[in-house]
Amino acid sequence: MKLIFERSKEGRNLSILPSCDVPVYTPEMPLREKKLHLPQMSENELSRHYTELAKQTHGVNDGFYPLGSCTMKYNPKVNESAAALPGFAKVHPLQPEETVQGCLEVLKTAEEELCEITGMDGMTFQPAAGAHGEYTGLLLIKAYFEKRGETNRKKIIVPDSAHGTNPASAVMAGFTIVNIPSAPDGCVDLEKLREAVGEDTAGLMLTNPNTLGLFDKNILEITEIVHEAGGLCYYDGANLNAVMGQVRPGDMGFDVIHLNLHKTFSTPHGGGGPGSGPVGCKEILKEFLPGIRIVEKDGVLSTEKAENSIGSVKEFYGNFLVVVKALTYILVLGKEGIPEASLNAVLNANYMMKKLEDLYDMPYPGICMHEFVMSLEKMKHEKGVSAMDIAKSLLDYGIHPPTMYFPLIVHEALMIEPTETESKETLDEAIAVFREIYERAVKDPQDVQNSPKKTPIGRPDEVQAARKPVLRYEF
Ligand SMILES: *Cc1c(COP(=O)(O)O)cnc(C)c1O
Repeated sequence: MKLIFERSKEGRNLSILPSCDVPVYTPEMPLREKKLHLPQMSENELSRHYTELAKQTHGVNDGFYPLGSCTMKYNPKVNESAAALPGFAKVHPLQPEETVQGCLEVLKTAEEELCEITGMDGMTFQPAAGAHGEYTGLLLIKAYFEKRGETNRKKIIVPDSAHGTNPASAVMAGFTIVNIPSAPDGCVDLEKLREAVGEDTAGLMLTNPNTLGLFDKNILEITEIVHEAGGLCYYDGANLNAVMGQVRPGDMGFDVIHLNLHKTFSTPHGGGGPGSGPVGCKEILKEFLPGIRIVEKDGVLSTEKAENSIGSVKEFYGNFLVVVKALTYILVLGKEGIPEASLNAVLNANYMMKKLEDLYDMPYPGICMHEFVMSLEKMKHEKGVSAMDIAKSLLDYGIHPPTMYFPLIVHEALMIEPTETESKETLDEAIAVFREIYERAVKDPQDVQNSPKKTPIGRPDEVQAARKPVLRYEF
């Protein structure tokens, strides 16, 4: 496909306006010395260019997108319509409060609803993503111990089945990491946890369900061990898909949590946002919350800062329109719909796992949550066909590959998350495709190794693409 600059023809443009009949204003500010290289095209060429680009990519509107840990589900369009209402989309964060009462009510209601779902007492919507939320939550923990004078508490315990952002965020927030291995069943090793906690423990970060798709069966014991040592418990709730409406992290003993609104609570994601990673906390941490708190007095909403706020982690209210979408999603589903969504997310994952386990190796069999992990280690060893080859082959069937080579503790891993929004027919089709690829891999490994065959690009050099991406067109 040609680049937009290669299609450009000097003098061609899409201006349909008559030429200007007032003097052109030339600012006295510095002007660029060379003319800006902009592509010159007619409107219809431009439209076709972008349509062609759109056709070459794969989104959840094109087909099945079972990207584990990412919750790529269908997002109802009504959420977009709500977020596009001028009263939400065309306001300014510095407008007087009395002119944006509706927006403040959205933030307040969303906080109440999500606190109800998570079992927390307060929430901030400032963080723009999950990892940003982790960092913010850890700063709350840090502020808490600083206020208590327990500055020796510098260690955060992270199980090896945690999401990769957990240890990274803890280091960014100034903590040191204590890694603990999982027990053979994929859950936290309680003995290792008991050995790891002590007077220097600031807390534990738990991704639950963990990256193996398992709900830790010892969760109450885990939070108790950490609390007894004087630490706090952080719940990575990025993937609340399996849990919402069923159990509440707040009731399991967690003190602070982040959610990914752009995963569980509607908002298409991937490609860099905008997202929202709100942080909820228990009463003991509320005084440290960042940004602006919404308070109500005599039916009028206004804003204030938390007493010992850690400051701001993003300007104003965070990505407000993502909150509008999340609240629309919650209100549309309601008290019955939310638990039903999580039941279906779990059912769909278990259905696919059961229908594939006679061919594909499931290192953690039994019941999974909203996602499951398979290992192609044996296949790789016997036939030379890797998880990557299977993933690439799926592209030829119009299916987006699952998450690959993650979690790291499973070799040749494929991590599949069907989500609740897929029908049984879609799941059955995907299962048939997985089975067909498996049989092809056994009969003719090379054929699968040479896939994909139908995509615009076959196999790019991924290292080169990551290390030396060509993002600029050289004239
Ligand atoms: C996606 C995810 C994150 C990080 O969220 P971002 O919005 O990508 O920063 C953290 N933890 C878990 C478990 C996740 O799935």
